Amino acid sequence: MDIKTNLTQVLKSFKNPECKLIAVSKTKPIEDLREAYAAGIRDFGENKVQEIQAKQPQMPADTRWHMIGHLQSNKVKYIAPFVHLIHGVDSFKLLKEIDKQGKKINRVIPVLLQIHIAEEETKFGFDQTELEEMLISEEFLQLTHVQIKGLMGMATFTENESQIRKEFNGLKQLFESLKSKALPAFVQLEELSMGMSGDYQIAQEEGSTMVRIGSAIFGARNYN
Ligand SMILES: *Cc1c(COP(=O)(O)O)cnc(C)c1O
Repeated sequence: MDIKTNLTQVLKSFKNPECKLIAVSKTKPIEDLREAYAAGIRDFGENKVQEIQAKQPQMPADTRWHMIGHLQSNKVKYIAPFVHLIHGVDSFKLLKEIDKQGKKINRVIPVLLQIHIAEEETKFGFDQTELEEMLISEEFLQLTHVQIKGLMGMATFTENESQIRKEFNGLKQLFESLKSKALPAFVQLEELSMGMSGDYQIAQEEGSTMVRIGSAIFGARNYN
């Protein structure tokens, strides 16, 4: 099936039509991104700095680039000038580096904090204690060039639907409880990025505002 047909199918199956779609184009050639663009997609997700950097100049200027994977601090500078939203901010160290790079180029960079919700230890993200400690620290209040727009999380890779639902629901609860707290002005919790090809409907039922969908749009990835 072609990309446009896949896109139509995916959008039709949304449990929440208001939910934003990020088309995850990692490993895919630029022709595929252009096809999705022609079908109306403006938000693209990539997880490698080198790849997002290579693709960015080849796409129209109104393309919005989402950095969705684990990001190394030493690579922030390469995407700071153009990235629309960094989803995977999984440590205070990384957040501070984004702030520093934003300062250098006089740009406030929008980010999401990635929360560890899965069972797998291998997945990245803040745990609740880490997050709370950061939010009340002096250093945090001094950030000037990041805007925290919400939270992101990845559920456990499992067939167990109730477990996935439970994990997404936990993230939603955390999102709501943070929203009710007094936080600095650069924290504006609007987006909850959760859900991928295998679990976006569950995520939407649990309150996702942004889904990151790759293979259901572009087909299976080949990593060779
Ligand atoms: C690859 C990736 C996705 C998309 O995965 P699909 O299962 O192909 O939809 C979503 N989020 C992150 C963080 C990813 O790395």
